[in-house]
Amino acid sequence: MNLLSVQEAQERILQKVHPVGQTKFPLEHAARRVLAEDIRAATDLPTFDNSSMDGFAVRSQDTSASRVTLAVVADIAAGAAPTRGFTRLAAGEAARIMTGAPLPEGADAVIPVEETDFSERGAGISAPKMVTITRAVKAGENVRGRGTDIRAGEIVLAKRRRLRAQDIGLLAMLGIADVPVYNLPRVALLSSGDELVPVDAPLTEGKIHDSNTYALAAQIAEAGAEVIRLGVAKDERAAVESLLNRALEMDVDMIVTSAGVSVGAFDFVKEVVEAAGSLNFWRVNMRPGKPLAFGEYRGIPFVGLPGNPVSAFVTFEVFGRGAVEKLAGLETRPRPRTAVRLGEAISSPDGRESYLRAVVDEAGVARLTGHQGSGNLFSLVQANALLIIPAGVKSRPAGSEVEAWLM
Ligand code: AMP
Ligand code: MG
Repeated sequence: MNLLSVQEAQERILQKVHPVGQTKFPLEHAARRVLAEDIRAATDLPTFDNSSMDGFAVRSQDTSASRVTLAVVADIAAGAAPTRGFTRLAAGEAARIMTGAPLPEGADAVIPVEETDFSERGAGISAPKMVTITRAVKAGENVRGRGTDIRAGEIVLAKRRRLRAQDIGLLAMLGIADVPVYNLPRVALLSSGDELVPVDAPLTEGKIHDSNTYALAAQIAEAGAEVIRLGVAKDERAAVESLLNRALEMDVDMIVTSAGVSVGAFDFVKEVVEAAGSLNFWRVNMRPGKPLAFGEYRGIPFVGLPGNPVSAFVTFEVFGRGAVEKLAGLETRPRPRTAVRLGEAISSPDGRESYLRAVVDEAGVARLTGHQGSGNLFSLVQANALLIIPAGVKSRPAGSEVEAWLM
C-alpha cells in the first residue's frame, strides 16, 4: 500500500490550518504570547544622551595627560533635569553625574569617580567644589548617546514571534503598554476507549488509566493553545459524535483526538468524522504512528492521533505541534535537527520513517532507551532525544551519523 510520506502529511495539515484572530493585550500579561504586528520604535533609544558611569561630566578638550582641576558647578542625579541655575558647562567646569543621568549641555564625556581625586563615595555624599583628574578623556567616553541603540521608526520586533522576557522589557522601554498579539487558539481534546478510566479512579479488570489526555493536554498547552478537555468517549458511534459536537458548541479552532482511528472493530472516530466532514488522509509512512488521520469535522480541522501513548506523543510532535503553532500565529519552520552518532546499531525493519527514543550524551553519542514498543511510555520518559531514521532505511551500524530532535 502507498502510505503518505511524513513531509507530505505535514504540508497537507499546514495548508488547512490558519492563524486565529488578534487582539491588544496588556504588556504585563504578554509574555509567551505571539506578536501579531511588527513593532516600530516611536522614539530613539536611549531617548537622551546620558552617563554610563557615576563620575564627572567634562568637556574632553579641557582634559590632558597632565593634571587638571575643574570647578564642579552642578550635581546631576538620575531622573533629574540638569537645572538649578545651570545651563551649560563652560571651559574649566565639570558636573558630578550619576549613571543614567542626562549629560549636561557642553559636556561630551564622563570620567568615572574612581579615576578622580574625589575619594568619598557612596550614598548621601555631597559633590565636591573642585575635582582633579590626571588623564585625557576622549569625546564620547562613558556617554550613551541618544539613538545609539535604536532609531525612531526602526522595526525592533517582527510579528509572528513568541514574546520572551527580553522582548517584554524592550516593549516597556518603548512605552508600549498594549501589545498586538494573536488570540490563544482553542484546541479540543478527546480520548476514546472503553478501557480508559481517569487518573483518580481505581483500576478494575481490563481497565487502564487514560494517560493520553494528560500528556496531550500538556503538549497542546506548551505549543501555545488553550486546551478544551472533552473527556473520554466510549467506543460507540453516538458517544464519539456527541462529544465532537460539544467541541463545536465550544467554538474551538481545532480538534485533537487519540485512539479509535485504526482498523479495530470499535474504532469509530474515523467513521464519525467522515460522516459529518471529510478525511484528507489517515495513514502515514512512519513508526510509531502509522494510523494518523487528518481532515475536518463540520469545518473544524481534525487531527486523529493513534491511541498508543508513545505514538500519540510522537505524532503530536511531528504533526500536531506545527499545526497548533500555525494556529497561534507563529512562523512555521521545521524543528531544528542535531547530528548525533549512533552508539549502537539500530534497525527499522519495515523501512518507514522512524522516531527512536534515545539518550544522547555530552559527546553526542546516542543509545536507545530500551524496547521501542509504542505502548512503552517509560522508554520515552527516559529519552532526551528522538532519532529520525529516514524512510527507506532499514538499518544503520554503530558509529554512523543520524539526525535527532533533542527534547
Ligand atoms: P486504539 O487506537 O483504540 O486501538 O488504541 C491503541 C492502544 O492505545 C490500546 O492499547 C489502547 O488501550 C491504548 N490507548 C488508547 N487511548 C489511550 C489513552 N487515552 N491513554 C492510554 N492508552 C490509550
Ligand atoms: Mg480503542
